[in-house]
Amino acid sequence: MKERRLLISFSGGETSAMMTKLIHERWAERYDRIVTVFANTGQENEETLRFVQQCDDAFGWGVVWLEALVDPEAGKGTKHRIVSFATADRAGGVFEDMIAKFGIPGPGFFHCTRELKERPITSYVRSIGWEAGSYDTAIGIRADEIDRVNRDHRAKRFVYPMADWRLRKIDVNEFWASQPPLSRLELNPSPFRLNLKGYQGNCWWCWKKSLRKHLTIMQETPEAFDFPERMEAKYSMAGSNPRNEPKRFFRERRTVADLRHLAATTQFEPASDDAREYQTDLFSPLALDLGGDCDEGCEVNFGEAA
Ligand code: SF4
Repeated sequence: MKERRLLISFSGGETSAMMTKLIHERWAERYDRIVTVFANTGQENEETLRFVQQCDDAFGWGVVWLEALVDPEAGKGTKHRIVSFATADRAGGVFEDMIAKFGIPGPGFFHCTRELKERPITSYVRSIGWEAGSYDTAIGIRADEIDRVNRDHRAKRFVYPMADWRLRKIDVNEFWASQPPLSRLELNPSPFRLNLKGYQGNCWWCWKKSLRKHLTIMQETPEAFDFPERMEAKYSMAGSNPRNEPKRFFRERRTVADLRHLAATTQFEPASDDAREYQTDLFSPLALDLGGDCDEGCEVNFGEAA
């Protein structure tokens, strides 16, 4: 009988971690082998890296830490390297190698997820003998993000357990708020969870985030934008560039300097921390927020248009 295989792409966020935990609890019989990978972009928040390691230590998933190995030569595909919590890139070298070859990502140029996550993960699974079509891939899209489900998910063998289980953002928040502390010996034990505000997840400054989130992050931690600012100065014309004009990370062709100026001169309501919102309305069972937007998703979609 063929081995029943499941690949879990663990993003390092709380939705993805809850999905991974529930899969191991509920689907251990469904699959003969479950492989959990985390693809580090080099621009993750340190708390994300710590959370990945804490989850692995606590739950024993055997997370494989991957990074993109970009070949600068044209026509040579991105491979993977295996790293660890200790050796994972924090300075952005992985991201910079990708930009040097493919250019600055942003609206209209979606290659960062493809090159930093999808390709290294695919390269890794091939290296362990998993051919295309021989395994399912679990993706952490929730019931309130159902519009992000891939149109070809059946053909691609993508599964969406969080959406199938009708779990929403508030369910994820409640799940992690109820986790016991890692150590009861702490002076002020707090639940074991990702210590980031909702808008700080994924790449710290991710270009997909809303302007409100960018400005909030800029006011709180302006150094988060040092990396994209350096990339703008160095690689604005890199990669395929049919329009022959400088590429920009941010919507409306804003530069980091524009964001710094806006954050310093504009009155705005800061972004709220949606990782700490819990069930408060009586209509929640009717799932009023199903299909809501998500402006900062970086879920892998293996093979979507780049
Ligand atoms: S989190 Fe944002 S910037 Fe980072 S790889 Fe994903 S889409 Fe690109």
